[in-house]
Amino acid sequence: MTATPGTLPAPDPRPPAALYLHVPFCVSLCPYCDFVVVAGAATRGPASRVSAFVEALEVELRLRADALDAAFGRPSSGSRPPLASVYLGGGTPSLLPPDDVARLLGLAGSRFGLVGGAEVTLEANPGPDERGDAAALARAGVNRLSLGAQAMEDALLRRLGRRHSPDDVRAAVAEARAGGIASVSVDLLYDVPGQSLEAWQATLEGALELGVDHVSAYALTLDDPDAEGLTGPLGDHLPTRAGARRWREAAVREQDEDRASAQYRLAVARLAAAGFRGYEISNWARPGHESRHNLAYWRRLPHEAVGPGAHAFDGAVRRWNAARLDGYLAALSAASPSLPPGGSEAVHRAAAASEQAILGLRLDEGLGLGPASTEGSLLAPHLDWALDSGLLERFAGPAGEPRVRLTTDGRLLSNEIFARLV
Ligand code: SF4
Repeated sequence: MTATPGTLPAPDPRPPAALYLHVPFCVSLCPYCDFVVVAGAATRGPASRVSAFVEALEVELRLRADALDAAFGRPSSGSRPPLASVYLGGGTPSLLPPDDVARLLGLAGSRFGLVGGAEVTLEANPGPDERGDAAALARAGVNRLSLGAQAMEDALLRRLGRRHSPDDVRAAVAEARAGGIASVSVDLLYDVPGQSLEAWQATLEGALELGVDHVSAYALTLDDPDAEGLTGPLGDHLPTRAGARRWREAAVREQDEDRASAQYRLAVARLAAAGFRGYEISNWARPGHESRHNLAYWRRLPHEAVGPGAHAFDGAVRRWNAARLDGYLAALSAASPSLPPGGSEAVHRAAAASEQAILGLRLDEGLGLGPASTEGSLLAPHLDWALDSGLLERFAGPAGEPRVRLTTDGRLLSNEIFARLV
């Protein structure tokens, strides 16, 4: 069998289809979190760095837009397509004043262009002092809210170091609906220490009772970014704090592969029964509520990204900003601002084929099988093995073309399959 993982990328850079803005502030730090986050005095009070950060983010947006103008022309020139999605992630972007969100979105629209009906997502925490004013956020241009619910059980939320209660999740969803947010997603966690299958079922039922449009369900991952060498001065992660490290070491001993598999299978069955499509390994949506922004990542479309630790891709090169806030602010707040520190790497054709295969297999739209290509034939033995093992299945695409996708067993063993495709 020969696999052609979609169209291989053009060697030349392409303009972005999507824009990510990373907002690194949280009220407090959850011990399992390895996102780029600062908390405490940096977030609230007289020493808050939020407004300095928003100004720096605007400067970075302008500098990145200048570079795109020079490479591809202005969005208004017709030579550069407008963005299909903008995503404010974090951290807790709902801590930003809605006026700041409006300013950032206005700048994104004027310098990058936005298609009519573009998806504009903002991540929010459900607590009453964190979720922001949904109506004001909707007026600012947000039309999709992604809520960090994680669990619908008090004891589990406390174990995870979360500040909110299940009632806060209910209130946040109700306010989002009343405020005019068109699409609401919740993030949920399984394989959490102390979380029985019944507790996971209760969380799923609690989320479904809210009438949300989209569910992201992630196994709690407790990787060590320090050990992976990601936390140096130019790294895209921050060093793990000692307290968080102790929490993780204890938590990992309570994780259980069999329980995690049972929890995942339960999510697959329950969400399908509720009318959600598992369009990606960890993501389910009612029809029309798939995350267009995240689909851009999984379809390997070029995307721009700003903020500390943010990752961008132009179809040929992956680039990231360093995670450390001080370096970020110093570069962008200087009298003559410059792009923040970070790194980049070119994605060569063989690596691009692997990436495209792995990302394609994350999706239920799967991977096309077609005419011979060097890259495709390198992957073919691994895809054959996965087919023979029942981890992949064949199906016909929209035009009747042959495709493969992961089975539920394959989704559970996806890391093993992906390791072979690298
Ligand atoms: S609220 Fe989210 S981003 Fe903030 S520390 Fe907790 S897990 Fe990380």
